[in-house]
Amino acid sequence: MPRITEQQLSELRALPIEGVAQRLGLGVSRHRSLCPFHDDSHPSLHYSVAKNTYKCFVCDAHGGPIDLVMHHLRKSFVEACQWLADENNIIMQEFIPHDKPSAPKRAFNPEKYIRFFEHPFLCQAARAFLFGERKLNEKVVGWCRLNSYTDRQGTTWLQIDINGNLIGVQSRNLGHCRPSTTAPRFKFPYGHTCHIYNLPVLKLLKEGEPLYITEGASDCWAMLSSGHKAIAIPSATLLNRKDIETIRSTLIDRRSTLHMYPDQDIPGEKLYLQLTRIATDAGLCLVRHSLPPGCKDYSDFYVRHLQPKC
Ligand SMILES: [Zn+2]
Repeated sequence: MPRITEQQLSELRALPIEGVAQRLGLGVSRHRSLCPFHDDSHPSLHYSVAKNTYKCFVCDAHGGPIDLVMHHLRKSFVEACQWLADENNIIMQEFIPHDKPSAPKRAFNPEKYIRFFEHPFLCQAARAFLFGERKLNEKVVGWCRLNSYTDRQGTTWLQIDINGNLIGVQSRNLGHCRPSTTAPRFKFPYGHTCHIYNLPVLKLLKEGEPLYITEGASDCWAMLSSGHKAIAIPSATLLNRKDIETIRSTLIDRRSTLHMYPDQDIPGEKLYLQLTRIATDAGLCLVRHSLPPGCKDYSDFYVRHLQPKC
């Protein structure tokens, strides 16, 4: 078992109590959930966001994030700390550099990520980004199983399940709680390969309904939020024969057509031309739509012109 430092302990104790409860599968709503410590039928476990604690007014179970994990999962204190650290990408052991030749590149391990996406949790920063800034539809965000976590440097990440079946994970930087940290905008786990995003939506395509192609995941969410079925293809080189055939046969079967709003820049134009060539070779037509002047991509167009004004 690793040694836990005071610093790590305070990080674990500071993990948002409702996020921890969600990860444990306790459905939190309005700062309450069913109490797992007694036979509860009416949500009597209360969460205090200010104190970062829970308390049951029936059986008097109470404590903080570590207590909740210990008692709910029947773990020891150290085991509960390790579980919380693993769940939140907090590294408990110090990194020791060594001179050994670097290990072979690890394959992407979906197992490590499945639990994140089974009970996705969106922290306040993630909700502000998705619903405040991007004005996305809640159902779309739910369908896409977006998840968030804050790393030990205090950087909040939005975790994106690439294909509904976890063939890859992408994390998007949502900003830092602490000003001194520097982190990239996106990061990918070991062994991750880029892939077409949201391919499972093909199963939902209705007869005659158009299918839109976007360049990135955030344009794809905006497209879905405006009521269209969409997939994201960040680069034409990602399209393999199998995917092209899946898209082609779906479109033929549903009598659907392929559409695209190319981004208003050189990479956007290049991608559109490459995809047009691939579509033509597959016997499909890619219908081009233009964004209004001043909108750099579909997400921008959606935020400024399409989303319901509130
Ligand atoms: Zn109780």
